[in-house]
Amino acid sequence: MTSPSFGSTLPWAEPSWYTGRPSPYYKDSHRRLRDVVRTWCDEHVAPYNEEWEAKGAIPTHLYAECAKAGLLLPIAAGKSIPPEWSHYPIIGGIKAEEWDGFHDFVLWDELVRGGSIASLFIGLTVGAPPLRQFATKQLQDKIFPEILSGEKRICLAVTEPACGSDVRNLTTTAEKTSDGKHYVVNGEKKWITNGMFSDYFMTAVRTGGPGAEGISMLLIPRSEGLRTRPVPVIAGPLSATTYVTFEDVKVPVEYLIGTEGAGFRQTMVNFNHERLWIVFQALRGCRTAIHDAFQWALKREAFGKTLIEQPVVRYKFGNMGRQIEALQAWTEQIVYELEYLSDKDGSRLLGGVTALLKVEGGLVCKYVAEECLKIMGGLGLTKTGQGARIEAFYRSTPSLVVPGGSEDVLIDLGVREALKLSAQAERAKSKL
Ligand SMILES: Cc1cc2nc3c(=O)[nH]c(=O)nc-3n(C[C@H](O)[C@H](O)[C@H](O)COP(=O)(O)OP(=O)(O)OC[C@H]3O[C@@H](n4cnc5c(N)ncnc54)[C@H](O)[C@@H]3O)c2cc1C
Repeated sequence: MTSPSFGSTLPWAEPSWYTGRPSPYYKDSHRRLRDVVRTWCDEHVAPYNEEWEAKGAIPTHLYAECAKAGLLLPIAAGKSIPPEWSHYPIIGGIKAEEWDGFHDFVLWDELVRGGSIASLFIGLTVGAPPLRQFATKQLQDKIFPEILSGEKRICLAVTEPACGSDVRNLTTTAEKTSDGKHYVVNGEKKWITNGMFSDYFMTAVRTGGPGAEGISMLLIPRSEGLRTRPVPVIAGPLSATTYVTFEDVKVPVEYLIGTEGAGFRQTMVNFNHERLWIVFQALRGCRTAIHDAFQWALKREAFGKTLIEQPVVRYKFGNMGRQIEALQAWTEQIVYELEYLSDKDGSRLLGGVTALLKVEGGLVCKYVAEECLKIMGGLGLTKTGQGARIEAFYRSTPSLVVPGGSEDVLIDLGVREALKLSAQAERAKSKL
């Protein structure tokens, strides 16, 4: 027996398990989370999306409300919630110990469907994990209460104007003062999401010589000498893309994340969840677009019949559907594998695969966005009305393709990692 369908019944507008079909991955707590987040977004986000888009900002007070609703903790945590955080609220009343990677997936899926609110949390989801994984307990105990209560915000600052994909060559410096108590930071970071409203910048800096070994991660509080200004980008201002300048910014040495020289590895480990999370966004973006395109194709008439009665239009939907479902299945497979691997093995075995998954997410988005736009005709280019979500999705697809590792760079990484694992497996076999 299947359970009743949840949400839209249009083909591919929801993941297949929403339609009541069986899945090995989702339990009652995932369904509960899905239901609660959807209701929360319908109440707190959907009515205001257009207003926020028009104003170019989401009201500041909403962030603390998100904390109270239990959104910030799971967003900062990702695929598991440590027991010491169990006193913070979790949306849907999910218990800390039952939270897993599929809850993370469901949460983001529903937040992205909800609309622009998701852009508030980008800094938290990419900036908090290094703090949790690699910082001292003292630093965690100081910072997490501030950022999980919604009082303060955090972002991740790796990219520089002259250095993006090539993280090894970043030039922002952090030099120790002669008394050894502070770092003094100088340099620039560009395209830092949520930077405009962040209080903390999880920053990759150079504390040593050239190359990867000279890079460290430093948590830099907004303070004297740190300046931010907006960088206007294609997807609009809500995610507050930022240019950050550090001019003799003094940071206590206790704000170093882990040890000096570990920053490159920490950055690479952090990319894996970021890339997976970009795919979560890609999937829901595609589903929202195909939903709106279906609604239109079922009613719009041209040449004496509805669009859906044209075989060429059905061909487009079929091609979109098969790609979305394949992407969903691959994503679920990786989320599942991460559940059962240690963090170390997850990074080692799945770094390259996750890079390729992210590439696939971008490619599917580009395909779906363009096909849906064409199905909508002029409405697909219109910022209001029935094509508005498709127009916005079409505009936002580059934000899924370049940030978090650009398509070409990640394809190459995926192949190099696959060859590395193949060589390791061969060596292990020859030792038998
Ligand atoms: C909207 C937005 C939000 C972002 N948010 C953040 C953030 O929050 N924090 C942060 O630190 N960064 C952020 N970034 C930066 C983002 O991660 C970088 O833009 C991205 O990594 C690419 O770096 P780059 O722009 O310097 O491009 P480059 O590294 O100069 O590369 C440009 C192009 O050259 C090609 N290329 C480069 N190297 C190779 C290679 N080895 N093989 C094949 N092709 C190659 C690729 O086509 C690539 O797209 C954001 C960027 C954008 C646009």
